[in-house]
Amino acid sequence: MKKTGPYAEVIVDLNARRTDRVFHYAVPPELWDKVDVGARVLVPFGGRRLAGYVVGFGYPGGAVNIKEIAGVLDAWQVFTPELLALARWMAESYLCSTAEALQRILSPRLQVKGTRVVKHLRTTLSEAELEIFISSLDRAPKQAAVLRTAVKCPGLTRKELADAAEVSPSVVDSLVEKGILAVSAEEVLCRPGRPAGSFAKIETLDLNAGQKDALEKVAGAIRQRSFGVFLLHGVTGSGKTEVYLRAIAAVLETSRQALALVPEISLTPQMVDLFRERFGGQVAVLHSALSGMERYGEWRRVKEGAAPVVLGTRSAVFAPMPSPGLFVIDEEHESSYKQDGHLRYHAREIALKRAQLAGAVVLLGSATPSLESQFRASAGGPYQLVTLNERIDGRSLPPVRVVDMRREQKEGHRGIFSRVLIAAVSRRLEEREQTLLFLNRRGFASFVICRECGMVFKCPRCDISLTYHQDGRLRCHYCNYTVGLPDRCPGCGSYHIGQFGAGTQKVEEEARRFFPGARILRMDSDSTARKGSHAQIVNAFRDRRADILIGTQMIAKGLDFPGVTLVGVINADTTLHMPDFRAAERTFQLLTQVAGRSGRGSLPGEALIQTYCPEHYSITAAAAHDCNKFYQNEMPVRRSLGYPPFGHLARLLLTHEDEETVKKGAALVKELLNNLLPGEKKSVSILGPAPAPLGKIKDRFRWQLVLKAYNRNLLRDIIKEGLSVLEKNHSSFKPAINVDINPQGML
Ligand code: ADP
Ligand code: ZN
Ligand code: ZN
Repeated sequence: MKKTGPYAEVIVDLNARRTDRVFHYAVPPELWDKVDVGARVLVPFGGRRLAGYVVGFGYPGGAVNIKEIAGVLDAWQVFTPELLALARWMAESYLCSTAEALQRILSPRLQVKGTRVVKHLRTTLSEAELEIFISSLDRAPKQAAVLRTAVKCPGLTRKELADAAEVSPSVVDSLVEKGILAVSAEEVLCRPGRPAGSFAKIETLDLNAGQKDALEKVAGAIRQRSFGVFLLHGVTGSGKTEVYLRAIAAVLETSRQALALVPEISLTPQMVDLFRERFGGQVAVLHSALSGMERYGEWRRVKEGAAPVVLGTRSAVFAPMPSPGLFVIDEEHESSYKQDGHLRYHAREIALKRAQLAGAVVLLGSATPSLESQFRASAGGPYQLVTLNERIDGRSLPPVRVVDMRREQKEGHRGIFSRVLIAAVSRRLEEREQTLLFLNRRGFASFVICRECGMVFKCPRCDISLTYHQDGRLRCHYCNYTVGLPDRCPGCGSYHIGQFGAGTQKVEEEARRFFPGARILRMDSDSTARKGSHAQIVNAFRDRRADILIGTQMIAKGLDFPGVTLVGVINADTTLHMPDFRAAERTFQLLTQVAGRSGRGSLPGEALIQTYCPEHYSITAAAAHDCNKFYQNEMPVRRSLGYPPFGHLARLLLTHEDEETVKKGAALVKELLNNLLPGEKKSVSILGPAPAPLGKIKDRFRWQLVLKAYNRNLLRDIIKEGLSVLEKNHSSFKPAINVDINPQGML
């Protein structure tokens, strides 16, 4: 990178939005060859020393007092120009500071908290000297262990080194005092050992015609080295993974790197095996279940180019590939790609931006793509659509039967299981085949349903289900519309209306009652709270040590049980009536995925869906395995209300211990925002304030404003302006505000 001026432009590691600007620092001569764009430095700032990131070189606008950079934190550039540009874009798009975005992009281990700088240890002696020294340590085996570890893994922190050598940190300290170990803020470069078995396994499968066509298109774009997006829409079992693997191989041939994201590693161990089998030691795996050290090791291998293939979950989207050529996102519709907590980024969005910056290809794969992606891949859209319509084995998708629970009710069968489901399970038990029983655990936002006609109370303005509250009223969580709960169904006059939902434990109880001899397992967040129990349950079921597995979302995805010939969905309604405009989309996706779990082995399977709304298009389309039908029905709804993909939403979530404070705060923010929107016809509509569906978490009350606009930049700018007015004029404002642009859920 060419240095265009004598001063380094530094983004200081402060989180406040208002200081989101560069500061100029002089580079002392001894640091000239170390300070470059992308380097992390230590700078004096307001009486403290803080970490900062060099983003360029130049001159300040006016006369300012220029201080000197105090030191360099790493022996290498932490950020590529592509990642710096990404951080700038993130700050713009997600309303955070550039420093926050850079922090997020960095491996967690490299993050500097406040003024604390991580200190790294290494030995001061040469290898030969060390050998002699260690042999003199007969009586101090702990010190010897520390030194051996320090040689093997230079650059550990005090605590890490002690942990790795299984001694107390005081042993490390004593070696530091003796001068055998040296401490530095600078990191020591590990020599990237030659990756073991780095040769790709020769591919033995012959691609079928559909896969060949898909690969040709994607690989063609990869070789052109220009930005492009493909939506690979392929039914479950159509061989999408093989297309990913070949596309990755095509990237490697261009001497660039590839990243593949999956929703959850724990659910896809097969994927890791598959990647390792194909690409050997070239694969780095990045996910949150790794220890800090493991994750950091993988991160470094990626950074140094030793691992040109990265497989990981959401946050792996920031993997520091030197020159990425491909971003694969498997199950691109999954909501787990959206970060929930602070800085609510969407991994798909990040991948798209990175690819654009790097001239890379994005390959989005799914059997049930998000409406947004389908829309962009429709005629005239920016994405290219490639489809795989057949399952590899030529088998047809399992038949799906929809069970009308209203009829069960009418005919006097009030239990959780319909007669059809009981019969179907009994038959599986006789045949010694397996059953999956699935239910959506999200029953907390309770909606009210008429058990005679299936009617659900919806907001007339927002078209989302109303939520039942303890005060006996129904409320819309977008716009705060409320209505009293009537005694009778306005649709059919029945008195049979009420709250809805049963938990997994209740289902298990009922199952034990109806199927006394059956071996039953339950998998939900309670039964898998202990580490490893998830895998235990999965293995037990796969080894046929149980007949019935009852579970939540966890069993819907990715798992492959060849012995399962029946999948029963206990109630499709809990998902369908979530207070969310995506409820229908989620239902369709979930049901399609769940149905795909049946009949994966040699035996044909079937799926049963119990519901009070058997006519709803998300259910009939899933039963027919018909994505297009769902799309055709859902798009007009989205269009009429300006929901994505036609418009953009943002949620401002306000929280505080005192409900009045948060309520008033939300009203004030609404007023501020409204004042920024001139004219009668508002380009941004502001709904609420309304309590969030989860009205209180950890003693904090939660209220929200929902903003809707056709122009995303406008939406962003208004919020940005509103927040800065708030900061400037209302310094006593108490509630915390969290901004989520295009949220995936609003609970
Ligand atoms: P998807 O990801 O689309 O659900 P998979 O990639 O899991 O489907 O493929 C389903 C199965 O088909 C896998 O076991 C895979 O090994 C196999 N497969 C994929 N492509 C081929 C092929 N061209 N010939 C034979 N088997 C294949
Ligand atoms: Zn009714
Ligand atoms: Zn509403």
